[in-house]
Amino acid sequence: MKKKYGNLFIVATPIGNMDDITYRALNTLKKIDYIAAENYKHTLKLLNKYNINKSITSFHQHNELKNTKKIIKKLKKGKNIALVSDAGTPTINDPGFYLIRECHLNKIKVIPLPGACAAISALSASGIPSNKFCFEGFLPSKKIKRCKTLKKLKFEKRTIIFYETSHRIQKSLKNILKEFGPNRKITIAREITKYWESIKYNTVYNFFNKYKNNSLICKGEIVLIISGYKKNKKSIPIKIKKTLSILKSILSLKKTALITSKIHNIKKNILYKYLIKKKNNDKI
Ligand code: SAM
Repeated sequence: MKKKYGNLFIVATPIGNMDDITYRALNTLKKIDYIAAENYKHTLKLLNKYNINKSITSFHQHNELKNTKKIIKKLKKGKNIALVSDAGTPTINDPGFYLIRECHLNKIKVIPLPGACAAISALSASGIPSNKFCFEGFLPSKKIKRCKTLKKLKFEKRTIIFYETSHRIQKSLKNILKEFGPNRKITIAREITKYWESIKYNTVYNFFNKYKNNSLICKGEIVLIISGYKKNKKSIPIKIKKTLSILKSILSLKKTALITSKIHNIKKNILYKYLIKKKNNDKI
């Protein structure tokens, strides 16, 4: 009779606070035969905390291809194996995709155990729309590539998530400011679930000015959540604003809006609303 294959469990582990691990994850780690871990020391610390004694085999980006073959062999012999990364959810900017694809190709069952993920935790606390988003991993380390990536994302309407490092955050903010403009809303989520956790929401411009001369206030692990592109339909080009300003000094607001709409081929209502808003603001 053909031997039953084992299962590959994708186990999420804490991203800081060691309590952020599920009962199911701990029970699974106790029951399986091996753990394929990105970082031996990190995983051992976790196992020691929860009194789990299990053999750990190394699985990181430099041996992923080679060790995939070994793990597939073990799974085919009926062994149950858990894949864990350094922190958070395996394969989210961590190794594992290749192994998982091989499991599917070999009809080996892959079972995800949901848990901590820095990107999703940051998004959930960001105050930026989370119904549609794209995850972009790390921005390139070289300036030219970084700016190119940002340029491509300038008109992305969904919320954008980046992982970021503390030594590059100021440069990235400078590039984001240049490519996306000063008013883009951004949440900087730092050291999530840890002692120095900080989640701040502001414009790119304000963050850039805050951090440009102070690297100390942005230490640790970082996730950037950037609001998507919004076409500002109501913004009136400067040329039209000049016409409005000249006509307004000699005509009523209604006539100003009407004549300007004819000159610039723009809806009268938009101009009238702008003039009323401006008049009310000027009063304040
Ligand atoms: N697989 C992980 C996950 O599920 O979030 C991500 C691994 S990726 C190699 C590591 C990056 O995730 C860090 O450089 C940082 O950008 C982000 N990150 C991880 N832990 C974090 C935390 N506690 N607070 C903020 N960002 C964190």
